[in-house]
Amino acid sequence: MPFTALGLAPTLAQAAAQLGWTTPTAIQSSTLPVVLSGADLLATAPTGSGKTAAFVLPLLQLCLSRTNAERLRATTLLVLVPTRELAAQIFDVIQQLTQSLESRPKVVTAVGGVSINPQMMDLRGGADVVVATPGRLLDLVDHNALSLSEVQHLVLDEADRLLDLGFANELDRVLALLPKHRQTLLFSATFPAVVEQLASRWLIEPKRIAIAGPSPGPATIEQRVILVDASRRAQLVRKLIREHGWERVLVFVASQYAADHLARKLHQGELYATSFHGGLSQGARRQALGEFKQQRWDVLVTTDLAARGLDVEQLPVVINFDLPRSATDHTHRIGRTGRAGAPGLAISLVSPETEAHWRLIARRQDLTGLPIEVLPGFEPTESAPTNDQDLQGTGGIKGKRPSKKDKLRAAAALTNRPLPDA
Ligand code: AMP
Repeated sequence: MPFTALGLAPTLAQAAAQLGWTTPTAIQSSTLPVVLSGADLLATAPTGSGKTAAFVLPLLQLCLSRTNAERLRATTLLVLVPTRELAAQIFDVIQQLTQSLESRPKVVTAVGGVSINPQMMDLRGGADVVVATPGRLLDLVDHNALSLSEVQHLVLDEADRLLDLGFANELDRVLALLPKHRQTLLFSATFPAVVEQLASRWLIEPKRIAIAGPSPGPATIEQRVILVDASRRAQLVRKLIREHGWERVLVFVASQYAADHLARKLHQGELYATSFHGGLSQGARRQALGEFKQQRWDVLVTTDLAARGLDVEQLPVVINFDLPRSATDHTHRIGRTGRAGAPGLAISLVSPETEAHWRLIARRQDLTGLPIEVLPGFEPTESAPTNDQDLQGTGGIKGKRPSKKDKLRAAAALTNRPLPDA
């Protein structure tokens, strides 16, 4: 079914076709008519399923259908996202889709980590569309650089991540600044209770759309699990990349330090590897990601910063060098490959001390049938830790910053069981 059959204007359908999008993906087919009808929407969709265009296309149509005199560069469309990278990606999609239009909306990104002044300059004279992270959005409102009183369409993208990253208070403040009459779309890969709560306060009688499984996301991802001693993982990664000639590999580790360390190690092993994490300046992050997308690096070693929303075309392989903390993080990490129906491979390295943690993830992800491979020359020699050692973490994710929950658990444990004097 073509886009126009879903009610999309021919100009926008043409703009999509110029990007090679001629047939709507499953999420786009279900979302477009709902958004065009003006209803609120609560949607789950697998990563890489074409979610961005699913909201950008119909919302652009609604915004552009208003007359110029009505628009007057008031911000009528606001997209809230958890990370700067996702903001940049959505900005790019909007720019690409509108480049051939007669009257182009003015789009501004408002994200932290960079100086606020250029964003204040960008907002001079108003902007039709603002793509923002919540903290910086509020800074700009506080500086009178932006008003949210004209917002008619609001998108909360990766809502679960917005809450994970501790944006709850900022979101409350944003909500108070928005007009009551507006259309709100909420996208979330998972729907924990906190997101349901958020939805009940932000949305009015939302239509619900859940795009599950196989189309066209993670189902196209082949998964492998390899058992190897922790100390030999770097060597194994080098061997696998060389042997298979993979040219773009995203490697996940548990900490910023580990990302730098492993990237250096792989680089010394003559692989083009660099690191990408929240400890880098915004400029360095943009550069590393840009260069990786342009294939100037073969390997990007990253933390969970890159686990959500990042879209790198034709990323064939994702490697969990350190296992993710949770089954949900696993879904997001491996969702970086197998995008838009392309085949992908996700390899998880498991060492004797993280095997128990892997089994937990596998159970939650329905992966218990997946064989744990041992590769010749990399047979494990280390032994699994005792239960006591294992309690120190989730096994193999050393260096990972404890979450709020971990801290609360630790505090509770301390009050119940005081530490003996040293
Ligand atoms: P997203 O889930 O928005 O990050 O999109 C994932 C990938 O799907 C991006 O690389 C898009 O370029 C691509 N994409 C989006 N819509 C379509 C479509 N209708 N047909 C083919 N590819 C698409």
